[in-house]
Amino acid sequence: MEIKSFAKGGSMLLGVVGNPLAHSISPQLHNTLSDILGKDCVYVPLRMDEDDFDDGIRGIKALGFKGFNVTIPYKNKILKHMDVISQEASLIGAVNTVKIKDGLLYGHNTDVRGFYDSFTRETGVDFNKKQVVILGGGGAARAVALAVVRGGPSRMYLVNRTIKKAEAIGDIIKKYSPHTEITCHGAIDFNFGRADILINTTSVGMYPDTGAIPFGQEMEFSPSMVVYDLIYNPPETGLLKKASHWGAKTVNGLGMLIYQGIRAYEIWMDMKVEDDVSKAVLDGFRKYL
Ligand code: NAP
Repeated sequence: MEIKSFAKGGSMLLGVVGNPLAHSISPQLHNTLSDILGKDCVYVPLRMDEDDFDDGIRGIKALGFKGFNVTIPYKNKILKHMDVISQEASLIGAVNTVKIKDGLLYGHNTDVRGFYDSFTRETGVDFNKKQVVILGGGGAARAVALAVVRGGPSRMYLVNRTIKKAEAIGDIIKKYSPHTEITCHGAIDFNFGRADILINTTSVGMYPDTGAIPFGQEMEFSPSMVVYDLIYNPPETGLLKKASHWGAKTVNGLGMLIYQGIRAYEIWMDMKVEDDVSKAVLDGFRKYL
């Protein structure tokens, strides 16, 4: 019998902290990466109840983990444990990747890069001088808005049911990039059909409510538009179906999930994962899921 084991006594430890974690694909993603890249590393789910969270984080450090991801509901709560916070994580107010080095915890947010890499690589379009509509005002919208503004759009429209949250994001982005034209809306009360790019960061249309479209069924698109939905379950949301019917280019959020994970892996390992490896991993997960 051939002894084939992915973990040994000295393997590097990584993991993901959150609750629930049963549907997380992060362990599969990172263990696949270690396998492909020949790294002696094992990545495990670390489900924690709220009451155990602080002890749990201290435990991860005590056990010698190299780093870990943080997901719902702890992306904000983890901030107080950080010794150093990256500019992106600090602007967004959320950490999704922690690196542990010389006993210190370094907090990062890889959703910004994950979204940027997924959008630009999968659509072949960038944000430079584009009119961009972002639907939603939660944590994901903050990361997306920061990624978009770094690409130099001519204008950003931030649209959220609770307009105050869109305005809060607008304030952050204006501080970061004072010359970007930004307007905030509580509903789609403008002709966004003139926009070049529409990005949905709301949870509307997510499984099981797969027929729902954010801000209603009245949207009109154009064939020159690119429409990106952060949701990847279902793979084609009602929004993407409708946009595709109008001839727009559409992409779902699986790429963002994979690329943010790859960026986290690069941070832990101090390395660059080559583009062809990232693409092969994404293609593999598109077939697998
Ligand atoms: P969140 O902080 O809970 O924000 C949810 C957003 O959806 C809010 O803007 C909320 O509006 C809006 N919303 C919810 N129900 C609505 C409705 N019926 N009508 C209009 N707007 C509604 O969540 P999040 O962390 O930003 O995540 C948002 C989505 O992105 C989720 O589907 C998540 O799975 C996805 N996501 C994907 C990735 C990826 O890697 N692909 C990464 C992060 C997140 P209000 O502010 O008015 O409540």
